[in-house]
Amino acid sequence: MIFTPEERQRYIRQLEWPGFGSAAQEQLRAGRVMVVGCGGLGSPALYYLAAAGVGRLGLLDPDRVEVSNLQRQILHATSDIGRAKVDSASERLRALNPHVRLAAHPVRLAADNAAELLAPYDVVLDCTDTFASKYLLNDACVALKKIFVHAGISGFCGQLLTVIPGKSPCLRCVFPAPPAATEAAAAAGPLGPVPGVIGALQAFEAIKYLAGVGTLLTDRLLTYDGLTGEFRPIHAHRNPACPACGADAQPKE
Ligand SMILES: [Zn+2]
Repeated sequence: MIFTPEERQRYIRQLEWPGFGSAAQEQLRAGRVMVVGCGGLGSPALYYLAAAGVGRLGLLDPDRVEVSNLQRQILHATSDIGRAKVDSASERLRALNPHVRLAAHPVRLAADNAAELLAPYDVVLDCTDTFASKYLLNDACVALKKIFVHAGISGFCGQLLTVIPGKSPCLRCVFPAPPAATEAAAAAGPLGPVPGVIGALQAFEAIKYLAGVGTLLTDRLLTYDGLTGEFRPIHAHRNPACPACGADAQPKE
């Protein structure tokens, strides 16, 4: 694959960086990432993925933009209120980088559509805000063997975990049950920079995987406390009895 002169200029910082280069950039262009949720986490994740030159992005969100979204969901603007989030997000991403192909899905992810929606992608980002959605995504990605980048926000704190299905701990290995009070905190918060930090890290995980650089954040749940500014990795292990990735859980193998 050859980059146009415009693309070469656009990505020059990445192309000329010794740790990245044109081979990594070509892999990014061939990469396909599904971002489930175009809100607080999905906004920065999508923006960085499009800016970096990931070839194909899926956007999935059933909701419309509300004024109360705008303090943290930075892909959307005041003039977008009432529009489908996938539409306003697509418009902004297209303006940023017209080379990226976008697929917008204004639907809610469910058990009966997850496999079909996620199948075309290499990496899936969990930018949702309920644990029910997170488990659903985790289970679908494990079954489909998609790289899965979980993230969650609770008040001033965030967390991140990358899952390589069948190799590293999945979300259900780490959280056999939803953490208490998470859902209430998600509804009440947070300040925009918290999902901004975590969503940017999700984009970085996808970029590292596609480009083949660095080390993925597997086997550790990274936690971030925005009020103290501290990151803390918590070691995680696969659960042999995990209902999603344990020995008895994979009828598709
Ligand atoms: Zn598991």
